[in-house]
Order: sequence, then C-alpha cells, then structure tokens
Amino acid sequence: MLSDIEIAQACSLKPIQAIADRAGIAEAYVEPHGKYKAKISLELLQQLQDRANGKLIYVTAITPTPAGEGKTTTAIGLAQAFGQIEQPVLLCLREPSLGPVFGVKGGATGGGYSQILPMDEINLHFTGDIHAVTAAHNLLAALLDNHLYQGNALGIDPKRVVWRRVMDISDRQLRSIVAGLGNKSDGVARETGFDITVASEIMAILCLTTGIHDLKERLGRILVAYTYDNQPVYARDLKATGAMAVLLKEAIKPNLVQTIEGQPALVHGGPFANIAHGNNSIIATRLGLKLSKYVITEGGFASDLGAEKFFDIVSRAAGVKPDTVVLVASVRALKFHGGVAKEDLSREDLAALERGFVNLERHYRNLHELYRLPVVVAINRFPSDTPAELEFLAQKCQAIGARSAISEVVAKGGPGGIELARAVLDSLEEAADFQPLYPLELPLKEKLALVATRVYGAEGVAYTSQAEQALKRLEQLGYGNLPVCIAKTQMSFSDDPALKGAPSGWTLTVREVRVLAGAGFVVAIAGTILTMPGLPKVPAAEQIDLDDDGRIRGLF
Ligand code: ADP
Ligand code: MG
Repeated sequence: MLSDIEIAQACSLKPIQAIADRAGIAEAYVEPHGKYKAKISLELLQQLQDRANGKLIYVTAITPTPAGEGKTTTAIGLAQAFGQIEQPVLLCLREPSLGPVFGVKGGATGGGYSQILPMDEINLHFTGDIHAVTAAHNLLAALLDNHLYQGNALGIDPKRVVWRRVMDISDRQLRSIVAGLGNKSDGVARETGFDITVASEIMAILCLTTGIHDLKERLGRILVAYTYDNQPVYARDLKATGAMAVLLKEAIKPNLVQTIEGQPALVHGGPFANIAHGNNSIIATRLGLKLSKYVITEGGFASDLGAEKFFDIVSRAAGVKPDTVVLVASVRALKFHGGVAKEDLSREDLAALERGFVNLERHYRNLHELYRLPVVVAINRFPSDTPAELEFLAQKCQAIGARSAISEVVAKGGPGGIELARAVLDSLEEAADFQPLYPLELPLKEKLALVATRVYGAEGVAYTSQAEQALKRLEQLGYGNLPVCIAKTQMSFSDDPALKGAPSGWTLTVREVRVLAGAGFVVAIAGTILTMPGLPKVPAAEQIDLDDDGRIRGLF
C-alpha cells in the first residue's frame, strides 16, 4: 500500500471555493489562504443564527493502544461514505500540533484513502492558528515578567506565578527552566518552564469561545499568579486582554479544507484531551450545524476523556447536543486489553478478544446508559484482522445490544464506510435523551466523584493535602460552579496506564487541582501528566525531507 502522503499527493484537489459552494458558503464569507485552504468569516455564523441545526454525530473510541484507534480516520471515512450515499455532510476536526508530527510518527489528518487535504500543510503550519496561540500566550508571559521587573505594583509573588510559556515543538529540555538569569537589567530570576502550545489555556479558550466579545472576556479572566497576600492576579490586571485578542483575530475564524472525496471539513483548534477539553472549536461546530444536515466531529483519546469532556464541558458552553455516537474499536486494541503483547497483536486470538471486550462494553454502557445516546460501534478493520475475529466481535456487540458495522475506510475510502454510514443514519432514528452527567451546582468534589465512579469505574477519589487545599480555595474564589476536567492517562479507564480492560476496585488519586478561569473549568490532575512531551529515541523528524522540487517526503 502507498504511504499516506503518497496517496495524498496523487489526489487532485478542488479549488477551495468549490468546496465552499458544496458547504453552502457564499464567496463573500470565504477568505482563501492559498488555493486549497480558507478561513471562514465570523459574520456567516451571525447570518445563519436562525437556521435549524443539523444532526451531530460524535466520534470517540475505546481505550487506545499506543498507536491510536483510528478515530480521526474513521470520522473522515464516514464523511466520505455519506458522500457516497449522497447525504449532505460536514466534518469538524481538530488542528494537528507539530509535536507529534516530528515525534512519534503519525499525523492528525486521517490515513490511507480517508484523509483531509492538503495533509502536509494541515499538519505543518496550516493557517497559522497554533502560532497565533503561541504568540498570545507568550505575550501574556512577557507582560507578566515585565511587570515584575518594572516595580511589581500588583505585588505578585514571583514564586506563585502559574502562567508558563509555550511552544509547539516537543522539547523536554524546556519543561523546567530558570529564567531571568544575568544582571539586574535582565529580568527577575525565577523558576518556570514551557508547555506544548496545545496545552495552553489560550488554545482551550479559542475552542470554547463563541465570538470576539466572549473571547476578550475569557482572556481577561485568565488567572496568571497570586500576590504576596494570596490574592489572584488576572490577565486583565496586566492590561493584556486587547493585545492578546488582536493576535487571535484571525485564529478565531474556522478553516475550511476538503476530504480526498471532496466533502467540506472545518478544521479548527486543537486542545489536549487531558489537561484541557480535547475537542475542536465551538465556533466551527456551531457553524457546521447551521450549514449541513449532518455534522461529524471527533474528540481526543477514548470516551472517558474527549467524549466525557464534550458532554460535560463543551456541549454546555456551546448549547449543542450530540445526536448519536460512533464508538471506534479494533480487534487489535481489544486483544491488547485481553493481555496480548504489542508484538503479537497480528496473531488470531479469540480468547484474548473475549477477555478484552469488557473495555468496549464499559465505553458502550457509559455512552448509552449514562449519557443516553444511540451508539454505533465502528469496527476499524486492520489488515491483520481475521474473518473469525471480525465475526466474533460483531456477535459480542450484538449480544450486549450494540449496533456495529465493519469499517474499511483506510483501505477503500468512502465506499469502505457505507455500511457504517447506514448504521449511523439508522441510529439517528432512535430517540436520544442526552443529558450531562452532573449539574454544575454540585460541589467540585461531588462532580469529580461522579466522573470517577460512574464513567471511570473507580471506587472513590482520594486527594493529596495539596489538592484538598486547592479545592477549598477555588470554592472560596467562586469557581465551585465550573465543570471539572480530569487529566489522567488515556491508556486506561483508571489513573494507572497498566490497568487494561475495565478495572474496578481502584481509587482515583487527585494530586493537584488548578483553575483555568478563562477557559471555564477546574482541572484535576491524576497521575503524571506531561504538558511538554519529549521526542522519542528515533524522532519522525529524521525521515522527513524536502526534495529539490519543493515536495515533502517521508511525512507519514
Ligand atoms: P486517532 O484519531 O484515534 O488517534 P487516527 O485516526 O489518527 O487515530 O489513526 C492513527 C494511525 O493509525 C494513523 O496513522 C492511521 O493511518 C492508522 N490507522 C487507523 N486505522 C487503520 C487501519 N484500519 N488500517 C491501517 N492503519 C490504520
Ligand atoms: Mg485523532
């Protein structure tokens, strides 16, 4: 089989206005970036505000193997399959970060014959949104350090600055640094560090905001530090709001691109699904729902992370509800949950598949019984899957009452997803009775306990004394009514990546709690979460090259 970039480069793309026409976007709202990418003006959303919403199809997955389960690819292939059966559709996806592109091989634009294009540009700088987030974030950091240097009128305690710096390259060297060394004129020396840009609160804000006015409100509310007498200091206290908003003025507009088979895709925003909420921008999803009868969107990691955050954080902020869920699963991942080693996943093993199925079952029950949504299991077919395994998995799904369909969108594009598309349309006939897991008025600890016990299957939650204190303080500061965003490993339902399947009898340990006051949620950190990844021993960057004709080689 050809590599992803070889398949992508062999496609002939349509001019972006042709894709906009297909999405029903008039030329007046299209701001082209080159021939095949465009920003869509925010006035369009205003213009369409009275139009009825289309149906929202939410793609999530079982607990993944280290390679990823194929959510993005399935979402793209499903959109292409809707095209095959002549149904109007629009995709809403996240923007890739440069970190994974140059680190562990893998982009975020799909794979095989289900991709969004131009995949190289989307994966590299795209329309500059992530750079804009980096600039806005670091401007705030610079204003804060300058305030310390220029006499510190606000009385900020340099030891209690919570705003770090960001960049969009995985670089463990910058995780913890001492800045401001040198002479008196070189700033105030203090310990700090860098996170990857997708972990920035500004990325979360960009994705949760509903427009320019709201963007400025949220930017102003960012909590950056505490004073010597323990009072919070906000971005607005540093008079940073306007300048940050200016840097984000283009980034807030959604980006339009196309699938291999010509469906429109809005690719906009890309926050982490642990420390942040892990879903594309609300502006893009809202716009998509006004434009198309069917909208397909996807969230980060498994349903306990990206989907839980969509349901309990995003859906409330956006005022939109999902109508059905596609739960992506693979034979390989279920065998992994059944105890098979990574190297042996290609060997047929029905017993392991049976043991690992408990993982799928818990995800399914959460989505169907807790969030009361119709669910379709998409069995993402890999070349090594045997007919007996695929048949067995389909039967297991049927036995718990779950619809399923085999998806071959990687190997066949849209035609490989027609069975799945029909199952999704069927599921939309089922009455959805969606509701978030908890009301916002519950105390933070009760909200955390509900997510931990009902979604993750924990017995309870334990707090370090540091976390206890932080929770108390945040309730005092008036943040008790915010939704909670739990940062934990994506490799398990639990906070221990080694616990496969559907673990029970364990306790979630919350180590640290902080507020993202601008984004509007309280983050509870369980386990070790890296907000600045490192590069692997052999980074993907070593294989990537530009040939003399200006063509990119070796990008996936
Ligand atoms: P996720 O969104 O769940 O992280 P992706 O859709 O990005 O996962 O897929 C991760 C990687 O796995 C991609 O490189 C993709 O091409 C590959 N992949 C996904 N599904 C298949 C499949 N059925 N066969 C072969 N490769 C696949
Ligand atoms: Mg993905």
